[in-house]
Amino acid sequence: MVLRKLRTPLEWTELPDPVPGPGEIRVTVLACGVCRTDLHVVDGVLPHPTVPIIPGHEIVGRIDALGTGVTGLSIGERVGIPWLGHTCGVCPYCLRQEENLCDQPLFTGFSRNGGFATATVADARFSFPLGEEGSDQSLAPLLCAGLIGWRSLCIAGEGKRLGLYGFGAAAHILAQVAKWQGRSVYAFTRPGDVKTQAFAKSLGAEWAGGSDVLPPEPLDAAIIFATAGELVPMALRAVRKGGRVVCAGIHMSDIPSFPYSILWEERRIASVANLTRKDGLDFLGLVPRIGIVTKTTPYPLAQANQALADLRAGRFEGAAVLMP
Ligand SMILES: [Zn+2]
Ligand SMILES: [Zn+2]
Repeated sequence: MVLRKLRTPLEWTELPDPVPGPGEIRVTVLACGVCRTDLHVVDGVLPHPTVPIIPGHEIVGRIDALGTGVTGLSIGERVGIPWLGHTCGVCPYCLRQEENLCDQPLFTGFSRNGGFATATVADARFSFPLGEEGSDQSLAPLLCAGLIGWRSLCIAGEGKRLGLYGFGAAAHILAQVAKWQGRSVYAFTRPGDVKTQAFAKSLGAEWAGGSDVLPPEPLDAAIIFATAGELVPMALRAVRKGGRVVCAGIHMSDIPSFPYSILWEERRIASVANLTRKDGLDFLGLVPRIGIVTKTTPYPLAQANQALADLRAGRFEGAAVLMP
């Protein structure tokens, strides 16, 4: 499913199977999650996309060909391929273990072809062995929603009371992680969205309510997964002195001005960008122990445009997953 031109539907296209270059693997795509960032790619709100491009960066695949020089992975192995597709290894960020901020990165489904396809190639060093536990469909959302959620949680700190603004694919995974860590989760949804609030409670949220109200207790930290900038001052009002507000998205609408008093007392605002391979290994290593259950809605590959439209309209809980 190829994005030929920004702001147009993806097109079903027959292409020869890609050939893995040096250091690359080719996988048969088993499942690929649909992330809000795919919408941002299609909508052209992210700067400098490569087009045409095959979107999709929550790939579960099985290796069917190896390029030269690949070590540590073998044909037949099931792997996950995330958003971070390649880093330069020599820029100041790469050299200080901040490869998520690399100056010359490649991103899967954005600047190199992704997983809305029957087959794709990936840099072997940025592919994670997944083992055989868990279904392809249930694992796919972990590759971005789960990983970005994990990185956001690490940046949010150790606080026990955690607010999650926007209860979609990432938050429904992260709520389970946070609960497993012994934290209390406070879920914020669109005002009046009682269905999603009930969904959050079913996953162990201590409290669920509209983003326009304050939680019953001040929060230690809040993570904002929704793309609405007006949530930043709302979350600042919800966190205690010294609390943190973490913006997890790659794109957010403008943040309205707000009184300094809601930031004062050492509250902090941070953003999260991309992931490191260490994030991937840390998080995916924990997944079997936590027993994360992802809520997914499967779509045939050819219905990728429908999946994107349903995500845009909020027509499902959890995550959409394309099943080639
Ligand atoms: Zn770099
Ligand atoms: Zn994503």
